[in-house]
Amino acid sequence: MWKRLSEANLKMKPTIIYKCQKCGNYTLAANTQKTKHCPYCGTTINLQKAQKIAAGKNAFEASEILKHLKTQRGFDRKPT
Ligand SMILES: [Zn+2]
Repeated sequence: MWKRLSEANLKMKPTIIYKCQKCGNYTLAANTQKTKHCPYCGTTINLQKAQKIAAGKNAFEASEILKHLKTQRGFDRKPT
């Protein structure tokens, strides 16, 4: 019960969408993080230098924005 509550609190942190400088994919990180490994190419992204694409009030909102951005770019569509 308490563990669940603290996990929920973690997800309420403001979350930024960054663009990986190497592969150009988008990734999420809390605004308190300084570096992040890109889940696509594995490079270490310096979040203070990386391009910020968008920001959400929490991880959930940021992931919704990210989903929308990916749809716009066609990442989720399979080539026909
Ligand atoms: Zn990358």
